[in-house]
Amino acid sequence: MRLVFMGPPGAGKGTQARIVGVRCGIPQISTGDMLRAAKAEGRLPSDLVGRMAAGALVPDAVVISLIDERTGKPDCADGFMLDGFPRTVPQATALQALLEASGLALDHVIAIELPRSLLIERAVLRRTDKRTGQIYHLKYSPPPPGADLEHRADDREDVVAKRLDTYEAMTADLLPYYEDLGILRRIDGVGAVDEVTARVLHALGLD
Ligand code: ADP
Ligand code: AMP
Repeated sequence: MRLVFMGPPGAGKGTQARIVGVRCGIPQISTGDMLRAAKAEGRLPSDLVGRMAAGALVPDAVVISLIDERTGKPDCADGFMLDGFPRTVPQATALQALLEASGLALDHVIAIELPRSLLIERAVLRRTDKRTGQIYHLKYSPPPPGADLEHRADDREDVVAKRLDTYEAMTADLLPYYEDLGILRRIDGVGAVDEVTARVLHALGLD
């Protein structure tokens, strides 16, 4: 199964992709996580660090090359789920070409939809455990005592607002692109994590 999770920042892509990835036994690949890991290791060029901090996208070529390399690894042979990639039509066409070169195709694109006011609350109160990568929310999924929490620099309210604007502008053409391919599944992201998971599994025919 080859899946893409789309949706604005805070929609719940990472949360759902982790759950569905475990259930299907395929890796979850997040370009945002890969870029943050590169930054933490001092491998991310400073102009890209600046773009991320400002809530702007990094150049297509950077993320396409990350995905090209990562999806070629042996653990992706039976499938993978992409979280936060593609975000632009050039990224989507590059992904199609990459898959076609191996005789493969995407099975489904899950687009999680949520009103803007909920997106801001979800992103601003998000905290991630640095050691495990587990995603928490200070109100809805409180972290256990002792968790080593990270508050993302781009989860401050002003940057989240900018990231939402970026998402809307850049993906305006991406949703129709996947709609035309007949693989777009729109999911209502309002409700508890379990409820949204049930909708995702239903859309994938896994319930
Ligand atoms: P994305 O990957 O789309 O940016 P995340 O999966 O990181 O979003 O979720 C954003 C925040 O919202 C996190 O703090 C997460 O714990 C919380 N969250 C995710 N899904 C739900 C839900 N269904 N109800 C309440 N909070 C949620
Ligand atoms: P995310 O963790 O998906 O919210 O991504 C965090 C940040 O990483 C984004 O605001 C962008 O700066 C960058 N990023 C992640 N994925 C992409 C992508 N597919 N294209 C361009 N920039 C990306």
